[in-house]
Amino acid sequence: MSISESGAIARVEKRLLIGGKWVNASGMATFGIEDPSTGEVFANVSDATQSDAIHALDSAVESFGSWSNTPPRQRGEVLRGVYESMINDIDYLSMLMTLEMGKPLSEARAEVLYAADFFRWFSEEAVRIQGRYYNAPDGNSRVLTLKQPVGPVYLITPWNFPLAMAARKLGAALAAGCTAILKPAEQTPLCSLALGQILSDCGLPSGVVNIIPTSEPSVVSEKLMRDPRLRKVSFTGSTEVGKLLVAKSAHNLLRVSMELGGNAPFIVFDDCDLNLAVENALIAKMRNMGEACTSANRFIVQAGIAENFAKRLTDRMAGLKVGRGVEDASKVGPLIDSEAVFKVESLVSDALANGAKLLTGGSKIHGPGYFFEPTVILGVDAKSDMSQTEIFGPVAPIWVFETEDQAVKIANDTPYGLVAYLFTSDIGRGLRVMERLETGMLGLNQGMVSNAAAPFGGVKQSGFGREGGFEGIDEYLTLKYVAINSSNAK
Ligand code: NAD
Repeated sequence: MSISESGAIARVEKRLLIGGKWVNASGMATFGIEDPSTGEVFANVSDATQSDAIHALDSAVESFGSWSNTPPRQRGEVLRGVYESMINDIDYLSMLMTLEMGKPLSEARAEVLYAADFFRWFSEEAVRIQGRYYNAPDGNSRVLTLKQPVGPVYLITPWNFPLAMAARKLGAALAAGCTAILKPAEQTPLCSLALGQILSDCGLPSGVVNIIPTSEPSVVSEKLMRDPRLRKVSFTGSTEVGKLLVAKSAHNLLRVSMELGGNAPFIVFDDCDLNLAVENALIAKMRNMGEACTSANRFIVQAGIAENFAKRLTDRMAGLKVGRGVEDASKVGPLIDSEAVFKVESLVSDALANGAKLLTGGSKIHGPGYFFEPTVILGVDAKSDMSQTEIFGPVAPIWVFETEDQAVKIANDTPYGLVAYLFTSDIGRGLRVMERLETGMLGLNQGMVSNAAAPFGGVKQSGFGREGGFEGIDEYLTLKYVAINSSNAK
């Protein structure tokens, strides 16, 4: 059923979810949520304090015993129900997402499907948590291993995929039998609060998931991470904040998963299917207005086709309609805030000052909201800040290379290693280059890798741990080994 902007805003809970109840923050304070396409605050949300965070942890600790002992099938069935409810409520969830984050409604709908899929996937994984039993080599004992939930976990999510990042963590944590405290980004708490309502409506017991939006993430996180009852932190966000949290996790030696920033190379060899490469370049660059950790940050194109590729990409980028995400025709929404616009603007000016050529766009769009023109620039110099910085905006910079070795060298010349894209019709070359790229994920002739059934994660400063796939649930499980003296067994 379609829903109006005001209908979605009125429906969503704006308080904290603690112990199965919607409650005001202990200080009664709230903070505003801005529509990035207008710059106007359209909702106010309870602002969790340290004491609210501790109450949330109390609930997560209290409910851990019963949730971790709930039969896996039953846990899986709750998760399956969440998947179905999200699909049924796609209009509502996607409208909220577009309002608080800005992405076009069509992309918000795609994110709801992607997010829901994590609950479906992990509903199926909940019943496949396995251990082993085998003979020790000396034959005198048996080795038994079993996997058990880590305990209460703290989940911190970013604003750019406000529903999918929460779902990717919660699906795995709940399937494993963990209880959770979810702290959404301060720009986009509404999708998480809406998800909290769905989880409750689907029969998740009180206290298993607690949701605490806050305008003071550092202070609240510090308090939680110092409490010895917390067992794990899973973070998705910038590498900078990830490093701070890894340092803080040392205090109680918490289990840690880190899904951090990227600087994805998109390598195009001149033997590729050019139509396919351009089509996928658009997806890899413009999904989420370029505000994705997986966004193609550097187009590295072989000299023989560089001009042709640049021309075709420029034509397509220049034709994209920019506008408020709720408008049907809009293909490119606003950036998240004025700082994001300033950052993108500065990176573009710096690249141009270092000799790059502007093919289209290049400027912010004046008026209400934080819009930036879809931009293509050719011949970016390695000295440009853009070569080492996540752009997080609708800007496609093109580097030109001659040899396979050069392409690999440019692609790996970054502290990040989240995802890479590679376009070639030569399977030998595809495999050769794939093996040499320092990356956690690779799209081979494909501009999107996200898939609930696949392990998502990076290497180098893009973090560690994997979300989704068969591996995702292991982030929330510990391994226990039992040595069994079999020589005395009768
Ligand atoms: P961010 O690091 O500023 O914030 C992420 C989260 O951390 C938010 O919830 C925020 O409130 C919280 N936070 C900020 N400072 C904190 C502190 N000192 N202590 C505890 N929590 C703190 O990142 P962002 O701007 O929201 O998101 C964009 C970044 O996220 C980009 O770098 C992007 O690449 C990355 N990202 C990575 C993935 C991935 O899976 N690898 C996915 C999406 C986004």
